[in-house]
Amino acid sequence: MKNKKTTKVLISLMLILAMLVSVACGGNGAEDETPETDTVVEEAEAEETDADESESAAGLEGNALDDGVLDLGTNAAFPPYEFYDGDQMVGIDIDIAKAIADYLGYEVKIHDMEFSNIIASIESGKLDGGIAGMTVTADRLESVNFSNSYATGIQSIIVTKDSEIGSIDDLEGKKIGTQFGTTGDMYAQDDFGIDNVQAFDKGADAVVALLAGNVDCVIIDSAPAQSFVEADDNLQLLDTNYTEEDYAIALTKDNDTLLEEVNYALEVLTDDGTIPAIIEKYIPAK
Ligand code: GLN
Repeated sequence: MKNKKTTKVLISLMLILAMLVSVACGGNGAEDETPETDTVVEEAEAEETDADESESAAGLEGNALDDGVLDLGTNAAFPPYEFYDGDQMVGIDIDIAKAIADYLGYEVKIHDMEFSNIIASIESGKLDGGIAGMTVTADRLESVNFSNSYATGIQSIIVTKDSEIGSIDDLEGKKIGTQFGTTGDMYAQDDFGIDNVQAFDKGADAVVALLAGNVDCVIIDSAPAQSFVEADDNLQLLDTNYTEEDYAIALTKDNDTLLEEVNYALEVLTDDGTIPAIIEKYIPAK
């Protein structure tokens, strides 16, 4: 009996001990450990996702510019890429420049100037670059770096509604208005002779000359051409595309890190939908 009792007590004690051990460890038993481990992994994954998102929102710490200021030239008479809304410069290029600078952690200063001065100002070190619906050309590549292209453009021909010009073939011997230093200006000179081309500092001035009868047509990029034609009932676009071109950001040849940073920012901001949304805001898909 004694023994039996002792055995019973011992068994009871062992059971109690087993229960205590089970309570102490059982709560964190193998079954429960698995989800906890999973949670940690999920948290780690969630943190990674957060980090990715905050990187694309807040961007990288750019270090290509000592003063932290990205100085870009433009010619704000080129709607919808750059133009004035009251005293504010707005447009596709202005928004893209701001988005890139934001992403890289730079302040951006956009300087409005004649289009034909932008590349010279980059070469002389006054500007870090230019964003101006600028077409990549072999000639320009000798003076500046170009970012990857963020848009395409077409050279268009604007005539008055009563014009006898119906196609490019009718331009021979006609007076062609252009914007000085642009690709449209260069192509017109090459194809129709310098004597037949009158270049103006601003595209808008060439259009005024067309309306006044001082030139017979204007060759200019399609996006501003569209804006000019929409703004005046007397104008029309010829249904013919003169050339197709890639727009890119011109950057100083002295700073390859800046080129890398801008290309990286362009890629991220294209992939996350920022740049497509900017273009859609100014040129809604029809
Ligand atoms: N795309 C043209 C060029 O690069 C015109 C640009 C502009 O006038 N802003 O020459």
